[in-house]
Amino acid sequence: MDPLDIILHKNKIVPLYQPIISCDEHTVVGYEVLGHVETEQGFISLGSFFRDMSVPAEYKWEVDEWIHDQALSYYLSEEKEPFLFLNVDANVLDELNAHETFLTKLQRYENQGFPMNKLVLEFREHDFNGDIESLSHLMKFFATNGIQVAVDDLGKFGSDLDRLSKLEPNMMKVDLQGIGNHESAYDYQNVLEALAIFSRKIGATLLFKGIEDLHHLHIAWGHGGRFIEGGYLLKPDMGWTDTVAVKSELDDKVRSFILRENGRLQEQIAFVLDLDQHLAQLAMKSLVKCKTDDERVKAIAEELNEMAFRVYMCERFGYQLTSNWIKHGSTGWEEEQSARGKNWSWRSYFLENVAQMEGRQVGILSDVYRDIHTNELIRTYSYPLSHNRFVFLDIDPAFLYERDWLL
Ligand code: CA
Repeated sequence: MDPLDIILHKNKIVPLYQPIISCDEHTVVGYEVLGHVETEQGFISLGSFFRDMSVPAEYKWEVDEWIHDQALSYYLSEEKEPFLFLNVDANVLDELNAHETFLTKLQRYENQGFPMNKLVLEFREHDFNGDIESLSHLMKFFATNGIQVAVDDLGKFGSDLDRLSKLEPNMMKVDLQGIGNHESAYDYQNVLEALAIFSRKIGATLLFKGIEDLHHLHIAWGHGGRFIEGGYLLKPDMGWTDTVAVKSELDDKVRSFILRENGRLQEQIAFVLDLDQHLAQLAMKSLVKCKTDDERVKAIAEELNEMAFRVYMCERFGYQLTSNWIKHGSTGWEEEQSARGKNWSWRSYFLENVAQMEGRQVGILSDVYRDIHTNELIRTYSYPLSHNRFVFLDIDPAFLYERDWLL
């Protein structure tokens, strides 16, 4: 639609309410306000109008104010007090220097009973024209006035973690729309995993939007999503909805996720306990006969021939005491000396895992990661032998792929 047409038919513009569901209750706890224009063909989203850089800021602001007023008046007419998510355009606020006016307007509604602590303002960071400091100032202006601020549209456009932490958002919205179930989706899940850890570190809540199927729901649930929204759950509507509209359905789905995940974890725990026992017996019987650490590592490698493809031994300060013993299909295990004497204490989780092995006298299974040399997905199992010796077994990718509960 032509931007001028939109301005001329402002009375046809209405807010639709996209329900936002909390993952700790499975109930609707808020609504994102989405501007739509009513036409003979139905409601048309104003998304492209707001994202069009050629539309003057004055037009956008006029439409924004109109939508905000309708949504805030509607809020005051209802009894419940859900979270209200309003999209604001930082470029527009910045260009028109409208943040004071906007705050004054919000405070006017607050005086009429609108709970300001239920308001969340959504800012897009990736298409902001100014520098990150001015966006940060803008967001902090609202935050210091008791309004929650969210960074919208993470994920799709890539996100610079350093920029994000400068913004100190209360919430980060990650878009899952269009994320499929293929190989690149696996890499995308690593990004989400990092985002989940990062959001926890900076104290921001994660909201996953664009949930369009069960797979998206599973991703959101598995990556620290406190809030979720999307057509698979509830579609935007002209008013608010029943707060328990999807509760029982969500309860069931999450229960099935938990059953599957718990089953997977139990299999992994049994796998580690079994390996621990195997190595404890091996240490008592055959390893005592070996004269050197390399002989011990080779004996372990041969014993666990199917499972491992690379085996070596370190001491508690991280120094590698042996060669790498590497599996070669036909010729058995071969020695590669180059890694001997290297120090691995700098590696993520190394010290923590050694402490766990020492303290609990148990083996440890690492997370799934890509091997730097082969680029294949692997996991490492490590086990404490006596005399400050820790053996590390990199698990053969073929072994992993045959057991999907390990991946
Ligand atoms: Ca939004």
